[in-house]
Amino acid sequence: MVILVINAGSSSVKFTIFDMANQKKVLASGLIERIGIEGTTMKYANHRGEEVKGEVPVKNPQDAVKIISERLLDSKVGVLKSLSDIKAIGHRIVQGMEKIQEPILLNAEAKNIVRECAVLAPLHNPHNLMGIEACEAVLPGVPNVGVFDTAFHATMPPEAYLYGLPYKYYENNHIRRYGFHGTSHAYVAKAAAALDGRPLDKLKIITAHLGNGASLAAVKNGQCQDTSMGVTPLEGVIMGTRSGDVDPSAIFQIMKWENLTPDEADSLLNKKSGILGLANIGSSDLRDVEAEADKGNKLCAQALKVYAYRVKKYIGAYMAVLGGLDILVFTAGAGENSSTMRAAIVAGLEGIGLKLDASKNSVRSPEPRVISTDDSPIKIHVIPTNEELAIAEATAKLVG
Ligand code: AMP
Repeated sequence: MVILVINAGSSSVKFTIFDMANQKKVLASGLIERIGIEGTTMKYANHRGEEVKGEVPVKNPQDAVKIISERLLDSKVGVLKSLSDIKAIGHRIVQGMEKIQEPILLNAEAKNIVRECAVLAPLHNPHNLMGIEACEAVLPGVPNVGVFDTAFHATMPPEAYLYGLPYKYYENNHIRRYGFHGTSHAYVAKAAAALDGRPLDKLKIITAHLGNGASLAAVKNGQCQDTSMGVTPLEGVIMGTRSGDVDPSAIFQIMKWENLTPDEADSLLNKKSGILGLANIGSSDLRDVEAEADKGNKLCAQALKVYAYRVKKYIGAYMAVLGGLDILVFTAGAGENSSTMRAAIVAGLEGIGLKLDASKNSVRSPEPRVISTDDSPIKIHVIPTNEELAIAEATAKLVG
């Protein structure tokens, strides 16, 4: 069964096409960026190692899906004989609120719910919807399936998801913790159990998804108990450009001093804060900040410490939530690749059972691996995430 996975953002469309019957092989993948802006580019690579890069005449998501379809059929770099080979399309959708908590066939009713959920994800759900409608137009008759970032966290109990606000804002306005990166947390928790050789439904796992966006989840017996992102993906740990947890009063003061509108304050917290704001070198990329810290930049060194400290605090909090811990999992860009950040996060946690093996930690590999010492009471894993594969699997299961 061939499954196309689409992740449609505000100005980009990412795609991956899988042959599920052939060991879930990636037939082709790529990215169209700067859609609707000058200089729209497309990167495409197939399983034979052939690549195409360059500018493309793409003005909207429909153009994007059209050009993806053309590449998939291309006589040189294509991987399909006919578009009818595509049996279903899986879409990454950010916010499903309490309305959608499982992968769902995107019929008119489900799309309406995605539209309603845009009230809490105005920067994401409308673009996800445009991606769905583009696929309906270009690939008519192919079922579209929605896989929601929030779905895995649906098992959180009220004590984890309610904020200390007047209850009416939950009841009437649905303000609560939802959590994001759910597809990734679910995927790596399952993969960690497989690597460990113990059943997922007997394990206490903390998953640390540390990419440009970052969040942690406390997972007990395969079910999410708590997660660090909130009603939006702003809450929690320090991220590339997002502040994570801040005393809300600080924002009110800044808004007054600088005469900021709510939208400007939102942009300050989401786009100018986090590592970008703390390190102050014009980059939100931990690689740049680590390189500058190595050269002696004190603000960069401090930013990295703040980042590691916040993640460490969440690990401690989630060990309390879970009543212990079997496996700590690192995943996503920094979690998979930064041995120094991983070491900084678990430094000093030996006494509570997390013993890092420095030489295993320093190995770079695309494979799932254990980086704790053999005698560490709690295992530490690095598990490369694969949200696209998880979406393809959920899609195949639903339509299969
Ligand atoms: P993601 O959102 O999962 O694609 O992660 C992207 C982010 O991961 C980048 O912005 C970097 O901050 C971080 N990252 C990727 N590779 C490394 C690395 N080798 N060392 C440190 N950080 C990294």
